[in-house]
Amino acid sequence: MPELPEVEVVRRGLERWVAGRTVGEVDVLHPRAVRRHLAGGADFAARLGGVRLGTAMRRGKYLWVPLDDAATSLLGHLGMSGQLLVQPEGAPDEKHLRIRIRFDDAVGTELRFVDQRTFGGLSLHENTADGLPDIIAHIARDPLDPAFDEAAFHTALRLRRTTVKRALLDQSLISGVGNIYADEALWRARLHYDRPTATLTRPKSAELLGHVCDVMNAALAQGGTSFDSLYVNVNGESGYFDRSLDAYGREDQPCNRCGTPMRRRAWMNRSSYFCPRCQRPPRA
Ligand SMILES: [Zn+2]
Repeated sequence: MPELPEVEVVRRGLERWVAGRTVGEVDVLHPRAVRRHLAGGADFAARLGGVRLGTAMRRGKYLWVPLDDAATSLLGHLGMSGQLLVQPEGAPDEKHLRIRIRFDDAVGTELRFVDQRTFGGLSLHENTADGLPDIIAHIARDPLDPAFDEAAFHTALRLRRTTVKRALLDQSLISGVGNIYADEALWRARLHYDRPTATLTRPKSAELLGHVCDVMNAALAQGGTSFDSLYVNVNGESGYFDRSLDAYGREDQPCNRCGTPMRRRAWMNRSSYFCPRCQRPPRA
């Protein structure tokens, strides 16, 4: 599952390779890839043809490209395995190519949506007054957004009857934090994932938020240089950023701070990785 840094890498790629280009012919090769476009694939292709694409935007893990009418956006859902690729026209089709967007120019490249598991897709949506596609209007700002309201976040944490990792994954409270970066930030903050948020002091929640930003910025610094090529390529499972993880995926390996073997626990159909010494469970 792509997380915020991976999606930001895709956004930058789109900004570099497709912003300002005018769409030519669009081929929808699999109906599931446009199922969020309720009017169907033919409508999707017809409405996208001939429009000029703006600069790709992102909120949390959501990515969209405003169209030149400023009232509509092309929203991309990467799902579990979705990729947006900029490929030379005439390059062999990928096995799981779902949508092809040609451009009405002489650049010689096209945009392809490739998705093995077809949980992702592309769709067109009306924009809200703030320029957000209407179906993501409820998504909170992400912590890398300059307009993220830190004070409101800290207050909401204290008031909610929830635990800290659930809160980090709650997209209506803070967006863009997924399982991997939640575990990393909790390890850095020495917080157990089941710690009730009501017990966090303001300095502790500020420290946690700082770690969330740090792990994402570190991943971005690494990812921003990993695809400086023709390809706008992001695959959520590619693990660009695995090399620098301190918690996620490190079961039985020594904690990078104290040497205690790290543990993994099943958590809401996923896993949580933590150090049993640095991240003590809350008292029952
Ligand atoms: Zn430790």
